[in-house]
Amino acid sequence: MTRTIPLAVIPGDGIGREVVPEALKVLHAATEHEDVAFELHDFDLGIDRYLRTGDMLPDAEMRQIAQTEAILFGAVGGRPGDPRLAGISIERGLLLRLRFDFDQYVNLRPALIRPGVSSVLGPGARADFVVVREGTEGAYSGSGGVLREGTPNAVATEVALATHHGVERVMRFAFDLARRRRGRVTVVHKNNVLVHSGGLWQSVQDEVSARYPDIEVDYLHVDAATIHLVTTPERFDVIVTDNLFGDILTDLAGAIAGGIGLAASGSIDPERRYPSMFEPVHGSAPDIAGQGVADPTAAVLSAAMMLDHLELRGQGDRIRDAVAADLDARASTGPRGTAEVGDALAARLT
Ligand code: NAD
Repeated sequence: MTRTIPLAVIPGDGIGREVVPEALKVLHAATEHEDVAFELHDFDLGIDRYLRTGDMLPDAEMRQIAQTEAILFGAVGGRPGDPRLAGISIERGLLLRLRFDFDQYVNLRPALIRPGVSSVLGPGARADFVVVREGTEGAYSGSGGVLREGTPNAVATEVALATHHGVERVMRFAFDLARRRRGRVTVVHKNNVLVHSGGLWQSVQDEVSARYPDIEVDYLHVDAATIHLVTTPERFDVIVTDNLFGDILTDLAGAIAGGIGLAASGSIDPERRYPSMFEPVHGSAPDIAGQGVADPTAAVLSAAMMLDHLELRGQGDRIRDAVAADLDARASTGPRGTAEVGDALAARLT
């Protein structure tokens, strides 16, 4: 019997609307001979919709998205410096709302220097690791505020929230993931200075690692982690870290692993109570939007991660193989447009 998977599609703004159709093209090519059918539910959300209608993420649409099994997301955001967007945070109103309300507490971002990809670290650089970034707490929790705003005595706070519950569940996810990989977890924080939240991370690390004696565990301060990421990235297998450190480290990881056009991610509710969301790490890239030149590979690899989550790992692997072959061939293909890359990847799957 054919399995029907309701899928929310949120292309968003700018190049999000160019790369998501290519990801869908490749998704269909990878699954067309399987007993699986994607029922697509399109949502027009993002800064363009907000400027048109004033809606960021209406509750009715939130309820419809909640009925789906997964979300394929492009990117949102307008042109930095646009005066109409002063004081507007689409990240908070849309992206973080989806992550928080759907309790997507694992933000998973793989970093792999693939054969055929030239890394900024130079020839021969090796990296194959996954960053497990906590997705619902830390400095992004929204706790804080401004007192005496607009006066010379203004006081702003942004609280880095860490709960035992939140740290324990993401730490457990990282250790379980390491068991399926090379068996090594690196915990990253800054517990020499952030003694309260860092202390909690440390005690949860001790608790959880005691339950996984087969997993090798080490700890790095976040500043030291940036050095190791560019000098010895091969030392990492699974990195687990808080929301803010993870955001920064994964941009660095993306840069060393072939650039922003290849960096994929998943915001995951491992308990599957809510839809998980799969999205390229990049933004809406207003500087190249509308030109048909954005690389859709990050969106395609995000769709492959979505297939893994939907327990269609074989099809996810087929997409990753097609991407690897396409990257190998890039030296001889010359510059290609967004749709050409999507067509080439789909052709490798049919
Ligand atoms: P960006 O990721 O959109 O672009 C950074 C640079 O990378 C640009 O020069 C862009 O042309 C290039 N680039 C990005 N993706 C590419 C691709 N697939 N192929 C080729 N080149 C690519 O970051 P930004 O310029 O800082 O932000 C632009 C807007 O996107 C802002 O409004 C920002 O808030 C938003 N943003 C959204 C998300 C998201 O939706 N998850 C993430 C980051 C930024």
